[in-house]
Amino acid sequence: MKKIGILGSTGSIGTQTLEVVRDNDDIQVAGLAAGSNIELLEKQIREFKPEMVSVMDEAGAKDLAVRIRDTTTRVSMGMDGMLELAALADMEMLVTAVVGMIGIRPTMEAIRAGKDIALANKETLVTAGHLIMPLAREMGVSIFPVDSEHSAIFQCLRKEGIRMCTRILLTASGGPFRGYDRERLAKVTLEDTLKHPNWVMGQKITVDSATLVNKGLEVMEACWLFGVGLDQVEVVVQPQSVIHSMVEFEDGAVMAQLGTPDMKLPIQYALCYPQRRFLPGRRLDFTTLGSLSFGAPDMDTFQGLPLALEAARTGGSMPTVFNAANECAVRKFLQKEIRFLDIYDMIRSAMERHQVQEAPSLDEILAAEADTDQWLESRW
Ligand code: NDP
Ligand code: MG
Repeated sequence: MKKIGILGSTGSIGTQTLEVVRDNDDIQVAGLAAGSNIELLEKQIREFKPEMVSVMDEAGAKDLAVRIRDTTTRVSMGMDGMLELAALADMEMLVTAVVGMIGIRPTMEAIRAGKDIALANKETLVTAGHLIMPLAREMGVSIFPVDSEHSAIFQCLRKEGIRMCTRILLTASGGPFRGYDRERLAKVTLEDTLKHPNWVMGQKITVDSATLVNKGLEVMEACWLFGVGLDQVEVVVQPQSVIHSMVEFEDGAVMAQLGTPDMKLPIQYALCYPQRRFLPGRRLDFTTLGSLSFGAPDMDTFQGLPLALEAARTGGSMPTVFNAANECAVRKFLQKEIRFLDIYDMIRSAMERHQVQEAPSLDEILAAEADTDQWLESRW
């Protein structure tokens, strides 16, 4: 029996992780953490009977404790609650499916406690990869990618390993606005932005996919996960999202992982590695698939990607500022306080004013985040 914990159990990845658990008798839920969706968390507690749960929102935690008085599940709250869950005694793996860099501290806590990580929460690795990867090596824990592209790369590398790999070809759908110019992009609405052509996901990553910030975060995530340099990762637009990513080897051979868009595959692969198991769902039908197309990303119009690459090249605390500015901008865009192109302006202006710190500590990362957020809040 494998016991797991899930940070962000009420979200898109969290609920799909629980679907995978439901279909695999040998996986058990030790703990769950959510932000504020008490209704859903109560249902999850009644079905999966975790030892403990944590709720970020204090009022929500108190409400939940009353609602589940008849169960044996313990309720904690806030960051302390997430940290407690991260280190739960007989839990083997933590699925980090919370959104944003709030995931850094619990992820590090889990690694320190010797838990393997199934990592969906890319913002954590982008901002604190230089702390997390060495810590994972030191503690002997594995970090299994859940992000579909990184899972694809991981699957393709399984036999040869990264040493024989010359290029990582990270695929991108291009999002709902692929082919738009800047003039058209200036007019898009929140509703247009939330219609991703191939995937149903949480709101923040859906906006990130439209701006191509998501692809920029994923390039940095790939560098940390696989220990490669920026110049070894190339973004390839593959609008149908059938090829989830590819790797090229020394001899020029390219391996790809293909499949219908279903996050349960990378989730189950991370949970059950090294096993491959049956997964219900639609299969690719090559006789009706038609053609697959490829292209280069439009770096002039979709500045999320070049800004991310600049942050990655600068390094130090700059990826934190890139990410924190984006988190702030997306929050404002979701509240309809700013327009689509303002997201790029906010990120760029935050990066321009920032004095880079080399190899920032955890406290320095969190301080850079708070500083960026406060500065942007006061200006926009
Ligand atoms: P969702 O918005 O659907 O879910 C986010 C989860 O985090 C919810 O459970 C939410 O709780 C919880 N949460 C939000 N804020 C806080 C907080 N301050 N403290 C504690 N918990 C909080 O996001 P997704 O599932 O889409 O994405 C999660 C992560 O996975 C992101 O980093 C994303 O980039 C990554 N990812 C997602 C993919 C997808 O297909 N969705 C694909 C690849 C990566 P509540 O709702 O109860 O408030
Ligand atoms: Mg992805």
